Amino acid sequence: MKAVSIAIDGPAGAGKSTIAKRVAKELGYIYIDTGAMYRALGYSLIKDGVNLDDEAKVVENCRGKELKIEYRDGLQHVIVNDEDVTGMIRTDEVGSAASKISAYKEVRALLVSIQQKMAEKESVVMDGRDIGSVVLPNATLKIYLTASVEERAKRRYAEYMEKGQECDLEQIKKDIEERDHRDMTRENSPLVCVPDAHIIDSSFLNIDQVCAEMFKLVETVKS
Ligand code: C5P
Repeated sequence: MKAVSIAIDGPAGAGKSTIAKRVAKELGYIYIDTGAMYRALGYSLIKDGVNLDDEAKVVENCRGKELKIEYRDGLQHVIVNDEDVTGMIRTDEVGSAASKISAYKEVRALLVSIQQKMAEKESVVMDGRDIGSVVLPNATLKIYLTASVEERAKRRYAEYMEKGQECDLEQIKKDIEERDHRDMTRENSPLVCVPDAHIIDSSFLNIDQVCAEMFKLVETVKS
């Protein structure tokens, strides 16, 4: 049977990974978190002390790395040169590094090729910024999941508070705005809502409600 692909794009903090994970589990598809791949390279570059503004150095360093995606108990693990970095990549510093290096064409080419190969073999739910536009332009279903900056900042603030981490709502909002701006205005594969994507605004919806919307859309492509 032909592999099915569901592409979920949208800005940081819109809830893509939570939703994508649930949908993948329910459908028995593989969930591919492409942001984790950019983060893994970003983390590895910071560790190697590479100047992230130096495109040539960044590209050279990335070309020399072996990046692998593995699944354990249904969870995606990202391995860079045999080191499992999955637990190290969820910080704001790594998020910003990922956003910086993802603007470089050759870095994107390396990761896009891995992502496309993964989706050829199996049915996937893939989330990111360029999935519907570049990675899987022929995806079975395309979703653009968004939410207001205020709502996304509040969600991130709540996550930090739950972990007992000090944070400032205004600063979080500023960081999100900066990242949105960089992701949406970069020259190479900017975050766009492609014309054939279904838009879901999660500002006033909880996770269950967004999933319900998603499943309704999945039904339309399955039938
Ligand atoms: O989704 P996440 O916040 O983990 O992504 C980190 C960064 O990686 C994003 O801000 C974006 O710059 C970059 N990214 C990308 N293309 C993707 C996924 C992530 O450029 N498909």
